[in-house]
Amino acid sequence: MIHIKSFWRQVMSKAHYEIALLPGDGIGPEVVDAAVRVLTAAADHADLKLAYTRYEAGAGLYQRTGESMSEADMEAVGQADAVLLGAMGLPTVRKADGTEIAPQIDLRERYGLFASLRPCELFPGVPSRVKADKVNMLVIRETTEGLFAGRHDKLEPSDEAVSDRLTITRATSEKLFELAFEQAKQRRATHGTPGHVTLLDKSNVLRSNAFLRKVFDEVAERHPDIGSARLYIDAGSMMFVTNPERYDVVVTENVFGDITSEIAAGVVGGLGVAPSGDVSLKHGIFQPSHGSAPDISGKNIANPVATILSAAMMLEWLAQQHDDKRCAQVAAAIRNATAKVLLAGPRTPDIGGDSNTESVTKAVVAALSA
Ligand code: NAD
Repeated sequence: MIHIKSFWRQVMSKAHYEIALLPGDGIGPEVVDAAVRVLTAAADHADLKLAYTRYEAGAGLYQRTGESMSEADMEAVGQADAVLLGAMGLPTVRKADGTEIAPQIDLRERYGLFASLRPCELFPGVPSRVKADKVNMLVIRETTEGLFAGRHDKLEPSDEAVSDRLTITRATSEKLFELAFEQAKQRRATHGTPGHVTLLDKSNVLRSNAFLRKVFDEVAERHPDIGSARLYIDAGSMMFVTNPERYDVVVTENVFGDITSEIAAGVVGGLGVAPSGDVSLKHGIFQPSHGSAPDISGKNIANPVATILSAAMMLEWLAQQHDDKRCAQVAAAIRNATAKVLLAGPRTPDIGGDSNTESVTKAVVAALSA
């Protein structure tokens, strides 16, 4: 007789997972290919079945067709269990209003991916310019409103003044902060981190941010077992460099999060080792924090680690969504293999090595069975 709990587990964990791949532009295809090789090898070891479907999106497609992602593909990726994305956009490809195409932002809006989770951990073997013993933080960037809220507002043509709108809503902020406190609890259980959330804001000047802080305080009160702090974004940004150990979970508005998550990435070795996941309660898109890096594309020197760690995050998220331990085991195997390679090498030039994308990928695959 099947115990009712394990019966539901069997129903919820799936025979296989559908993964949509969006390699995109520049180094995107190189790092996604590397991550898929690692994912496939790790999943095979654990008899976990992953099925991949590739979709074309980005600046290359826009140049050829006038659209950065087709409506049919936008719809299709929403049906997948999870999405692995490379990078979208090229600085030379711009729309009439001067901005770049950004289907990754369109996807966030379409699927309500309100939070971008950006873990920044200093792995042994990775050089940091900042003196710090142990850095292990998670920056959570709100991704659907804040200073991006007016992206589709009507633009009054002017050569004298142009404005962008900053909007904070209670509904999104509550979801965001609940997720931040939940992440702090999970990290405390799995990473031994202290269980603490810091809000970064500009509530001394911006009314929208005073409201953000008010909602944060309300949510913090509901989680008395988790510590909390609020800092102004200016001083808080400096502390990423002067005292990064003080941070566990950091949560902030869209553009503040865009900037501070990259400062945090810089502290732990740079964009080449910084993974991320954009999530809602139902959908997840996982991607490196970096862009398409056209300056190094096609040279076989892009660091694949950020995308490989993003693939591991994707499996951790699938493990939680489907209560599937196999996904969590494969995620842990990928993280361990990657950590071994970061320590012993080979490493790409961005983190002080003299190796390349291909050799690092092969080494991570080999470390999976070591
Ligand atoms: P970028 O992240 O592409 O590159 C910044 C610097 O970091 C470059 O010197 C690059 O060589 C280096 N770098 C980035 N990833 C690396 C890796 N894996 N290994 C080694 N070095 C790496 O940022 P950018 O140059 O400001 O932007 C380039 C394009 O990417 C732009 O069109 C931008 O709009 C787009 N972009 C896309 C996303 C996304 O798809 N989510 C994010 C950021 C930027």
